[in-house]
Amino acid sequence: MNFTDINPDLAEIRDGVAKVCAAFPGEYWRNCDAGKLYPEEFVSALMKEGYLAAMIPESYGGSGLNLTAASVILEEIHRHGCNAAACHAQMYTMGTVLRHGSDEQKNKYLPKIADGSLRLQAFGVTEPTSGTDTLALKTTATRDGDHYIVKGQKIWTSRAAQSDLMLLLARTTPRDKVEKKTDGLSVFLIDLKSLVGKGVTIRPIRAMINHNSTEVFFDDVRIPADTLVGEEGKGFKYILSGMNAERILIAAECIGDAKWFLEKGAAYASERVVFGNPIGKNQGVQFPLAKAYAHMIAAEAIVYRAAGLYDAGTDPGVEANSAKMLAADASWEAAEACLQTHGGFGFAEEYDVERKFREARLYQVAPISTNLILCFIAERVLGLPKSY
Ligand SMILES: Cc1cc2nc3c(=O)[nH]c(=O)nc-3n(C[C@H](O)[C@H](O)[C@H](O)COP(=O)(O)OP(=O)(O)OC[C@H]3O[C@@H](n4cnc5c(N)ncnc54)[C@H](O)[C@@H]3O)c2cc1C
Repeated sequence: MNFTDINPDLAEIRDGVAKVCAAFPGEYWRNCDAGKLYPEEFVSALMKEGYLAAMIPESYGGSGLNLTAASVILEEIHRHGCNAAACHAQMYTMGTVLRHGSDEQKNKYLPKIADGSLRLQAFGVTEPTSGTDTLALKTTATRDGDHYIVKGQKIWTSRAAQSDLMLLLARTTPRDKVEKKTDGLSVFLIDLKSLVGKGVTIRPIRAMINHNSTEVFFDDVRIPADTLVGEEGKGFKYILSGMNAERILIAAECIGDAKWFLEKGAAYASERVVFGNPIGKNQGVQFPLAKAYAHMIAAEAIVYRAAGLYDAGTDPGVEANSAKMLAADASWEAAEACLQTHGGFGFAEEYDVERKFREARLYQVAPISTNLILCFIAERVLGLPKSY
């Protein structure tokens, strides 16, 4: 039973996603993981069925679905042991273009993103020296006639090597020259692929999980001025406005992961016989799984409450952040219970538990770490003093 099952349209979406995922079993993901390969076939299959264009309005060739439906799509992908990290960014980066882009940008890009001929998968915010302190980022974009010249470096930019386009956040006014401290950053929608070798260098980062993350270097790169999204200097505000959607979507993935771990753990606990009994007969094995389940359905409820509030046109910062934290915790608790239930086999690649375990750990850190969510709630809800 899923929280959203009372809505038959969402149940239908789940069935459709499940059909796509059935063609991508654990073996497929293990091969991608071992070779650090991008799951190209999986992304193409989702694209072909229109799932990655879910939130693009119908007038631009997408399905015009809301965030709740998009969350169901991502949850279902993860519930089947697949990983949407290869392609989920398109769902929330596209929102920035949709809300703040010019009509020319929308007409030029959104139909092609919707039909899959262009990929907007790269989101360049994080930098090596600024970390979570986005306002301290050092990449600059300096106006030069009809162009901007971009200089700097991004880190952890996932899927940069597989994306045609990138949503880039860069400083257009020096920090000490802005009136409001949140001003001075701007968003650009750049044709990343065409700039590789023309000042842009992409270097893969070998990491604990197969996330196709990279470092992206900008060495005096000339980009046309019409790549600017919205108003110059207001980029931080635009990026923030997309972050609630991002957090809710990622939280839905965590719920899918938690369900996968719990189903896998319960199935193994029923099958595995030790001392003449299935190990799941022992309460020491049952209880961690049962507790993780209870935490998962509580988190699932807040994820879809946040999605519903977003779809109703509100800006549910508290709910989106809480959903991200609780869902990430629920998936991590379920991961721990599942791995412990599997004993030594939890460490064997062929069970997929160790891979999903590594993948689930990410969401304590990215796209926003748990500490920063707690800071947000402490300050904005409880009125406590800012710690940084
Ligand atoms: C696999 C992966 C993929 C990623 N993909 C992308 C991407 O596509 N695009 C992109 O822009 N970024 C991406 N990121 C970056 C990600 O968003 C950041 O790693 C994350 O926001 C944390 O920033 P940081 O790593 O710089 O940590 P830091 O900011 O250096 O923080 C380190 C630790 O200190 C804690 N901390 C920092 N400040 C405070 C404080 N004031 N109070 C309490 N604790 C604090 C944090 O909670 C964290 O645990 C990715 C990261 C990973 C690992």
